[in-house]
This record gives sequence, C-alpha cells and structure tokens, in this order.
Amino acid sequence: MGSVDVVVVGTGVVGMAIALSAADAGLKVGLVGPGYAVPGAASQAAGAMLGVLGEHTAGQSSTADLWFRHQSALRWPGWLGTLIERAGMRVALRQGTVVIANLDYPADHENLDAIRAAAANLDQPVEELDPRQVMGLRPAARHAPVAALLCPQEGWVDTTALLSAMNTATQTHPRIERLDGTAAQVLVTNGRAVGITLEDGTQLHAGAVILAADTATDGLLAPLAAHTGPLPKVLAAKGVSLLLDVPEPAQPPMVVRTPNRDFACGLHLVPNSGGLYLGATNRFTDPTTTDMPTGATAGEHHHLLHALLHQFRTDLRTAPLIGARWGYRPATSDGAPLIGATALPGLHLATGTYRNGILMAPAIATLITAELLGQPAPLPNPYPPTQRPNRPDIPSLLATGGAQMISVLTDPHGNMPYDRDHQLANTLSSLLILAISSHTDNNDHHDLRERLHAIIDQHPTLEGVCRIFDTWETRT
Ligand SMILES: Cc1cc2nc3c(=O)[nH]c(=O)nc-3n(C[C@H](O)[C@H](O)[C@H](O)COP(=O)(O)OP(=O)(O)OC[C@H]3O[C@@H](n4cnc5c(N)ncnc54)[C@H](O)[C@@H]3O)c2cc1C
Repeated sequence: MGSVDVVVVGTGVVGMAIALSAADAGLKVGLVGPGYAVPGAASQAAGAMLGVLGEHTAGQSSTADLWFRHQSALRWPGWLGTLIERAGMRVALRQGTVVIANLDYPADHENLDAIRAAAANLDQPVEELDPRQVMGLRPAARHAPVAALLCPQEGWVDTTALLSAMNTATQTHPRIERLDGTAAQVLVTNGRAVGITLEDGTQLHAGAVILAADTATDGLLAPLAAHTGPLPKVLAAKGVSLLLDVPEPAQPPMVVRTPNRDFACGLHLVPNSGGLYLGATNRFTDPTTTDMPTGATAGEHHHLLHALLHQFRTDLRTAPLIGARWGYRPATSDGAPLIGATALPGLHLATGTYRNGILMAPAIATLITAELLGQPAPLPNPYPPTQRPNRPDIPSLLATGGAQMISVLTDPHGNMPYDRDHQLANTLSSLLILAISSHTDNNDHHDLRERLHAIIDQHPTLEGVCRIFDTWETRT
C-alpha cells in the first residue's frame, strides 16, 4: 500500500464512516482491520437505535451529551442518502420510538420525566400514550407499563444492511484502500504519528493516524503515553442481543424500549426484516487486565428473555430463537467518548462511543475529517481527548452505584419487600465509603482499601462500582 494521507485503524461503523468521509473529502485513505463481522465487534451486535431522547436519563447533569446525540441524529438522513448512492444498496431509516415505564424498575418514571424535559429542551415532539394501548406490547399483567411516551422522530436502522452497505462502499471507493490486517503499533517519528506497523511487520506510512479500534485502542495507546499524556482507559462493555423469528407484520411497528436501566441501554424491541431484535445486556471488563468474557452466556439469555417476555410480550415465548449476537461496546473510564486530536501530532482518536456509536458515527466522521483538513469543526465536539469532563465525586458515584447494584443483584425477579432495596443500597454505599476512608494498621485491610481506591481512580464511571463490589466479595 505504501503511503496514504490517513490510515484509519478499525473496520466497525466508526472506522468505516471516517474512511468514507475522509475519502469523499479527497484524502487517500488506508482502512485497516479484519472487517466488521468479527466476534466481539460492537457494531454487528447493535440494534441500531438512533437514540437521542430515549438515551437521556435523570442522572445526566450535562446537556452536552444530549445535544451531541441530537446533532448526530440530524446528520443521518443526508449521510445515509450518500452511503446508499455509493453502495448501490437499500438501507431503510425508520422513525418512531415508544419509551415505556413500569414498576419493575423504580427509576423508569424519573427517567421518563427527564426525557420529557429533554424533548422540550431540543424542541422535539413527544406524545403521551395510554400505556395500555402501545402497539406491539403484550406484557404480563403484573409487569404492564404505567406510562408511555411516543418520540415520533427517534429513528433506527437495520444494522446488518447498514454495515453491509458501508463495507461495500469502503471496498469500492476509489480513494480507500482496505487492508485486512491488525495494527500492532503506531509509528512515531520526531514527535509525530507517521503510520502504523501491522502484526505481520508490514509498515504503512500516513500523514495522520486515526484509532477507531474499539477495546484494542488502549493497547495501541499504551506505548505512546509519554507523547499523549494521560487519557481515560477504554473499557469493554460486553453486550448481548437476541433475534427471534417473528414475521414482520407480527413485529411492533416501531421501536419499543424502556429508559436506560442500571448500567445498560434498557430493554428494547427493534423491528427488523431479519427477525425481531431483543436487546441488551451489559457487563464491564478491562481489556488489558482480565480474560475477556466471550459469547452469549446462559445467564445473559435468561436475563433478556425473562425481562422482555414479562415486561414486553408474553406471546414471544413460543417464537423460535434464531440468533444471539454479542460485542464489546467501547466505553471510557470517565464515561465520555474520545473524539479528535491527541497531544501527539498526527494521532486522532474515535472511540468510547459506548451505547451510541451507530448514532454518532456520521457526526464523528465529519468532525475528524474537518480536523484532518484543518477546517473549523462543523459541530461542537464535547469529547476532545485533551480536555476531559469533570469526574463525579466518590460519594455520589457510590450512592448511585449502590442503588444500581441492588437492582442488578435482584434481577430478574426483583421485588424486595417494603423499601428494602433502598435500605440495602444505602447500607452498601455507606459501608463502601467507610471502607475506603477508614484507617487501620491491619495490612490486609490496607491492601483492600488501596485496591478500592485504585479501581475508582481507573474506573470513575458508575460501572466501576461493579468492580468494587466484585473485589469486595472476592477479598473479604
Ligand atoms: C448489544 C449492543 C447493542 C447496541 N445498541 C446500539 C444502538 O441501538 N444504537 C447505537 O448507536 N449504538 C449501539 N451500540 C453501541 C455501538 O454498537 C458501538 O458504540 C459502536 O458499534 C462502536 O463502533 P466501533 O466501530 O468503534 O467498534 P466496533 O464495531 O467494535 O469495530 C471496531 C473494529 O476494529 C477492529 N480492530 C480491533 N483492533 C484492531 C487492530 N489492532 N487493528 C485493526 N482493527 C482492529 C475490530 O476487529 C472491529 O472490527 C450497541 C452495542 C452493543 C454491543
């Protein structure tokens, strides 16, 4: 391949979107990666909701995320039109999402209120529905929704059709050269990223390097720490989704979902020509320190099916299961995506998209392309690698994390008597705060305390609290 203007590492939705955008802008692009359909890649497991309002929760104190998702959604129709033309393939962009709240998850109501407020903030239409009349919903009586909100402009696409079109477009674009390999190292010369070395030793020289390699990004960045300065870790948030053989006329006419719950994107049904999509689970791991969990486990199947059959459609219990998908969502330890130039000239990051990478891909692509061309940013970028958001303080992290842990631990049956879930969450959070701040000469305790501190430092996301409980459980 020799030398290109820009090398993009990663062949998921983000890497392919950047390659297409940069090539359309006239740059010669090298796109490196094993393709989009490899085990563990996030994009192929996604339901591809373009969730703006549906992803908003009461806990989001900053509106920057909401605005970025909104701006990303606005780009979709134009961006998809260009892709369809280039690939010569059909990818439908459909609209309409109903967000339901039930009594299985106490925060649903609060989050639905937050969604109403977000819609007003963005001047987006929403419509209150009679929760008993939501089309395509047939829950068990005890799990029926108590509120439902229609977001008529919230879209979704068919992941398989989308990725297939992007794959074709990147393979046929006259200015994109695909390299079916794995990047092993970023080449640095005179304090500038100048290309990559592949695992087979091949070198590819480029004017700029973009890392969109999901959970492998951390490994590629590690040797560059002296140049980039401190960056958040890129963690792996494993997600599982299922496909049921339900003919299209028997599927709901639009996406039906809960608000985000615990550490995940809530429960959702996404209509799809290849089968009805059921999503999704979430489990965090650190790709650099642990054995990565692979495949869709029995527990993950159980969680999804138990929740969705009861809370959404009991009739689906007779539907044949035709597939399980799984992938590692790239999520950063400070909870925000990493988009744009690093402190190392020539090196750009495009990852950490967590639950929203499909939605964000066109916006990320246009931001990175403008950076490469030295043009002004076409939309505000709240996620530059060199300027990170403030971390949440430890007591509020543990308070929310404690409540979410109880919810996870009592799933799938839930329902502790009285308000014992609150009592238990408060007790857990208080014990942890005490454990972290207490002083003792006992070496075992000192060691444990140091470990808990380290976890919070490295994983200040709410999900990091999971790891604290794991450590607590295995060390006491
Ligand atoms: C179950 C589930 C449901 C989801 N639902 C939604 C949704 O409804 N809406 C939404 O917007 N988002 C959703 N997401 C999140 C979304 O899928 C991700 O944010 C997005 O796909 C990330 O895209 P990516 O290109 O960064 O990563 P990936 O799709 O993981 O692609 C990265 C690619 O890089 C390659 N790679 C890795 N290392 C190297 C290397 N060293 N050299 C070269 N290539 C390398 C990998 O093989 C992979 O192909 C969901 C995710 C999951 C798992």
